[in-house]
Amino acid sequence: MYDVIIIGAGPTGSTAAKILSENGYKVLLAEKFKMPRYKSCSGQLISKTINLVHTYFEETVPDYVMCTPAESKGMIFTNDKGKEFRFEQKGLNVWRSSFDNWLAEKAAEKGAEIRECTSALSCEENDNAVTVTFKGKNIYTEKAKYVIDCEGVVGTLKRKIKKYTPQYITTFQTFNKGNINLDYHYFYAYLQPELSEYDAWFNVKDDFIILGVAVKDISKIKYFYNQFINYMQEKHHLWIDEQLKAEKWLMPYIQPGCVIDYGIGRILFAGETAGFLNPMGEGISAGMESGYYAAKAIIQHFDNLNLIYDTYKNTTSALQNYMKRQWNFVAGISDSFKKMKL
Ligand SMILES: Cc1cc2nc3c(=O)[nH]c(=O)nc-3n(C[C@H](O)[C@H](O)[C@H](O)COP(=O)(O)OP(=O)(O)OC[C@H]3O[C@@H](n4cnc5c(N)ncnc54)[C@H](O)[C@@H]3O)c2cc1C
Repeated sequence: MYDVIIIGAGPTGSTAAKILSENGYKVLLAEKFKMPRYKSCSGQLISKTINLVHTYFEETVPDYVMCTPAESKGMIFTNDKGKEFRFEQKGLNVWRSSFDNWLAEKAAEKGAEIRECTSALSCEENDNAVTVTFKGKNIYTEKAKYVIDCEGVVGTLKRKIKKYTPQYITTFQTFNKGNINLDYHYFYAYLQPELSEYDAWFNVKDDFIILGVAVKDISKIKYFYNQFINYMQEKHHLWIDEQLKAEKWLMPYIQPGCVIDYGIGRILFAGETAGFLNPMGEGISAGMESGYYAAKAIIQHFDNLNLIYDTYKNTTSALQNYMKRQWNFVAGISDSFKKMKL
């Protein structure tokens, strides 16, 4: 019998696992894939994320998880009218597989049991506990007083627990060898509706020039991607020698109201599973913060489920407000995002 089973070893799950374990709770952190697992991501740690790493993990981000250029100088947004907005803010540029694996190792150092290649198939609540069915080498069950579901965007488990139809944005990005007339230390986001159905972006990781578009309608990926490439060729002298990789991923369809689903019964949701994600897809900080507060709420009120929910909601209200402020800000610079407020 575990005190808490955490599903998913992303930044959300590892933060929750670390906090619970160091407070003496018996924790199982189950991850579907072999660690370090791959996650499509721009890997931008904004200063807020770096501060959360210091606060929750009492460590600085190690050099080996970073890519070149390691230091990010900020973000440059181009709005739907083609006007540029520069946001100077020091951040870091990391490979997610290494960064997330490092966070999971920190949770393990505090006593969390990490079980990789282990998929949670279903959760059932009975007798003041939750039984989780897992698929590893075979199918078996484990029991815990609580589950924190941090399975990320796809939410297979959540969809089984709660009947709902999630809305997704599909991201498509390519890794290229080539050249471009832009400063590699910035993350560039383009909000023009002719280039994507959400945003398009450019950044550099090691030797790769990364170009991506986000769409609501998956059949339009090719169209928007070509539009974006043409735009970057014309405006920024993009030159691609060779495309080495292309990948699709999902992102929750972030809505202006920032509605959060905190969970059901003894199964709490955190990170992207709960809906914690900032517009423009910055989700590591929101994941870590929500994982931390879900864990803290369980620690504070282990024997009182209602108080766990009250505390989790109260302590994450500042985060929800931060997300809303970010929304207002993006809507303030771009009409296409402003329309989404309606
Ligand atoms: C293209 C792209 C670029 C992005 N760029 C950035 C960025 O630069 N900066 C930023 O802050 N955010 C970025 N994000 C968002 C960020 O990646 C996510 O918000 C963040 O990873 C969410 O963390 P999480 O821990 O909630 O989920 P995840 O990191 O997705 O972790 C969930 C984990 O759960 C595991 N899992 C799933 N189902 C099960 C199951 N049934 N059983 C066991 N394990 C399971 C998964 O394998 C995964 O390891 C980007 C997203 C995309 C798609």
